[in-house]
Amino acid sequence: MAEQFNLDAYQQLLHTRVQQHDERGLILDDTLCYPLGGGQPGDSAILTLADGSQLTISDTRRDKESRQIVHSVPADAARLAPGTAVTLALDWPRRYRHMRIHTCLHLLSVVIKAGVTGGNLSADSGRLDFDLPEGMELQAAAIEQALNALVARDLPVRVLMTSGDALKAQPELIKTMAVTPPLHLPEIRLIEIDGVDLQPCGGTHVGRTGEIGRVQVKKIESKGARNKRVIITVAD
Ligand SMILES: [Zn+2]
Repeated sequence: MAEQFNLDAYQQLLHTRVQQHDERGLILDDTLCYPLGGGQPGDSAILTLADGSQLTISDTRRDKESRQIVHSVPADAARLAPGTAVTLALDWPRRYRHMRIHTCLHLLSVVIKAGVTGGNLSADSGRLDFDLPEGMELQAAAIEQALNALVARDLPVRVLMTSGDALKAQPELIKTMAVTPPLHLPEIRLIEIDGVDLQPCGGTHVGRTGEIGRVQVKKIESKGARNKRVIITVAD
């Protein structure tokens, strides 16, 4: 299965075929849909058949055993035969907000210089949790200003592929990363925001920080003595 979102997060339409349709849902030869993971939700989409009939894909997840991407469709939908030609149209407004908010979370990890202990996002907002020294307060206005300054620089966002061995040979790269990369893997996907951030990530991102648009810090919450949760959103 080709996972097109890895190559081009902007592709919205795909002609492909059904590989399997069972009680879990649909497996396609190729897909545009990102499977739930790394704090980013799965995608929703519309599948159109040759006769014009349509099926709604409400979510996409990776099957734990086969590692295939399973598309959730209504359980009462007639089973599609393997080989059936279909056109997949991504719910683009929703996915594009995931991309903008996800990329903004990378910027947030640059603006707040502390360990990231967790994160999550939806089409509405995103959050990161930071491990901060006890008593250290975060200023929402200053964070918001710093984020919007990075957005205004319209920095290119690139996908780089490397290997665990290559990364181990370049410790200066690892130093800049918020999360320890899976160095045992032969292939590691890195997201580089030109000159400001480099970290391993499998999610979907915008091509330039300018696309994130106006950022707002919605809330800063204390989650325990050392843990601060910062929630952001982006303008419509
Ligand atoms: Zn990412």
